[in-house]
Amino acid sequence: MFRRFSATLSRLPGLSCRRATQLSAKALDTPLSPGERVEWFCHHLICRTCRNYGGHLRLMRAWFREFGPKLEVPGGLSATCKEEIKARLQIELPGGK
Ligand SMILES: [Zn+2]
Repeated sequence: MFRRFSATLSRLPGLSCRRATQLSAKALDTPLSPGERVEWFCHHLICRTCRNYGGHLRLMRAWFREFGPKLEVPGGLSATCKEEIKARLQIELPGGK
C-alpha cells in the first residue's frame, strides 16, 4: 500500500530534491508556510535521501549548539580560508548565487 501511495505521490508535479533541501535548511531557522510544509512533507514521504539530509541537518545543528561555543581554532582561520568558506556558502546556501 505504501508503494502505491509513494508511486502516486512521485507522479505529482512538485518539489525537486534541490527545493526540498532548501526547505529543510530554511525550516531550521524559520517556520515554513503551510504550503511549504505540505510540499516538504510529501517529498519526504517518497525521498529517503532528503529525509536523511534533513535528519543530518538537525543533528548537526544540535551538535553545533552544544559544542560550537567550545570549539576553537588555534591561531584562528587564515584570511584565505575565511574567503573560501564565504565563497562556498554563497554558492551552496539557499538564496546564494
Ligand atoms: Zn529528495
